[in-house]
Amino acid sequence: MMAMNMQTQTDFDVVVVGGGAVGVMLALSLQRLNYRVAVIEQRAPCFHSSNPERVVALNYGSRCYLEALGLWDAVLATGLGDIRHIVVSEPGNRGQFDLHAGPSDVRAGQSASADMDALGYVVEMGALLEPMYQALHDSDIALISPACVESYTVADDGAQVSIQLRRGNERSILTAALLVGADGSFSQIRMMAGIGSYGWDHNRFGLVASIRCEHGHSNMAHECFRSSGPLAFLPLADGRFSIVWAATPAEATALLAMDDEAFMTALQRAAGEPTIKRLGAIVDVSRRASFALELSIAKSFNQARMVLVGNAAHTIHPVAGQGMNLGFRDVQALVEVLEAARKQQQNGYCDPGQAILLQAYSENRRADVAAVAGFTESMLHVFGSAMPGMKWLRGLGLAQLGNVPILADLLLKQASGVGQIPDHLAVELESKRGDKQPVEKQTWRRKHERA
Ligand SMILES: Cc1cc2nc3c(=O)[nH]c(=O)nc-3n(C[C@H](O)[C@H](O)[C@H](O)COP(=O)(O)OP(=O)(O)OC[C@H]3O[C@@H](n4cnc5c(N)ncnc54)[C@H](O)[C@@H]3O)c2cc1C
Repeated sequence: MMAMNMQTQTDFDVVVVGGGAVGVMLALSLQRLNYRVAVIEQRAPCFHSSNPERVVALNYGSRCYLEALGLWDAVLATGLGDIRHIVVSEPGNRGQFDLHAGPSDVRAGQSASADMDALGYVVEMGALLEPMYQALHDSDIALISPACVESYTVADDGAQVSIQLRRGNERSILTAALLVGADGSFSQIRMMAGIGSYGWDHNRFGLVASIRCEHGHSNMAHECFRSSGPLAFLPLADGRFSIVWAATPAEATALLAMDDEAFMTALQRAAGEPTIKRLGAIVDVSRRASFALELSIAKSFNQARMVLVGNAAHTIHPVAGQGMNLGFRDVQALVEVLEAARKQQQNGYCDPGQAILLQAYSENRRADVAAVAGFTESMLHVFGSAMPGMKWLRGLGLAQLGNVPILADLLLKQASGVGQIPDHLAVELESKRGDKQPVEKQTWRRKHERA
C-alpha cells in the first residue's frame, strides 16, 4: 500500500472541471499551495457584457477572499454597484425593514458597522471572470478549453484518477490525484459519480433584466416579497438596477413576451407603490432572460478522489444572493483543509485526494450549506404563505425586526458573510491592508466583546 505522503506520478495534482468563478478561484488558490493544476472548461472564455447583464452580489466575505488572492482591485476597476442599504418590503403591506452599511444619513435603521463600506458589491459575471482568467493565464495553471470530460475512473489501487477528455474530435486521458467537479448546477461529474441530490423544483423562473429609474438607486437594493416569489433590485455601477423577478411559469412566459412599455408597467405594479415612490418611474429596460429556480443539494460532496464545489454541490434560490458566496466559501474550506494537512507533511507534499481530507471538507461545508439553504427556503415559505393573518404578521415582523438588535445582527452577519471569514484570512488581510482598514471580522468581534 502507498505511504500517505508518497507522490504518485500523475499529469496534475488537481484537475478542476468547470471554469466558472468558483472553479477558477479554486485553481488559483491551489496553485498558491504549489499544486500542479489544470482547469477544463467546455466553453471558450468570453467576458463581454451580456444583455441583460448577468450579475452577482458578492458579500464582504467574498470580497476579502478576492482581496487575499490579489484580484479585488482589478474587479473594482471594472465597476461595481455598492449596496449600502437594503430595503425589505412586501407590496401592499406597510411594514418594512432597512439595513445599512456604516452610520446611515439616509434613514434611521440598523447599521452594519462603521468600518464596512458596503453590505454587498454587485458585479457583472464577465467583469468578475476577466481578472480571474488573466491571473490564470499569468500562472502555470493549464487551461484546457474548449474541452469536456467524457468519463473518469479511479485506479484499482485508489492512488489516482484518470480523466477521459474530448476536444473536438480528439480524445485524450489525463491523470490526477484529485478531480474537482466545479461544473455548475447540471454537473456531469456529479452525475458520472452517481451522486443524487436533495431538493425540489421551485416551479418558478428567475427573470433577469437591467432597468433605469427616474431617481437612480442611491446605492440602495430592494427586496420586495410577493406571494408568487421575491423581486430584487440590485444597484449597478452605472446608476441602473439589475432585477431578479421570481415568477410562476405562466407569469414568466407572459413577461418575456411583453413589449418594453407593458413590461415596465407590470414591473412597477409588482414592486408596489412605496418602492416605486423611492425609485421614480421605470424609464428603460434591457432585454430579458430567465433561469429555472430550484433547490438542489448533492447527497454527498465527495467520493474516491473526487470532490464537488460551487453549484455542482448546491444550487439555491437566488433570493438571498448567496450562491456564489457559498461557492467561494467551499473553495476556502477545501484550501484550508489541504493547507493544514500539508503543514504536517515533512516533505511539503500533501496528496490532495486523500479520503480523510475530502471527508473533512464535506463535513465542514454541510452545516453552512444547510444553514443558508434553510434560511433561504424559510424566507420563501413565510412570504409565500397565504394563511389568514400571515400578511399582518409579516408586516409586524418586518416593522419590528429593526428593534431586535440580535436578529438584525444575525441577518447582517449572514448577508455580509462577516461571520464566516476564517481567522487566517483575516490575519493575512489585516497585514496586507496595514492600519488603514481593519478586516471587518476583527472589528465586529471587538465591538461585540466590548458590549
Ligand atoms: C438569476 C440568478 C441570480 C443570482 N444572483 C446571485 C447573487 O446575487 N449572489 C450570489 O452569490 N449568487 C447568485 N446567484 C448564484 C450564482 O450565480 C451561482 O451560485 C454561481 O454562478 C455558481 O458558480 P459555479 O462556478 O459553481 O458554476 P457556474 O457559474 O455554472 O460555472 C460552471 C462552469 O462549468 C462549465 N461546465 C459545465 N459543464 C462542463 C463540462 N461537462 N465540462 C467542462 N466544463 C463544464 C460551464 O461552462 C461553466 O463555465 C444567482 C443565480 C441566478 C440564477
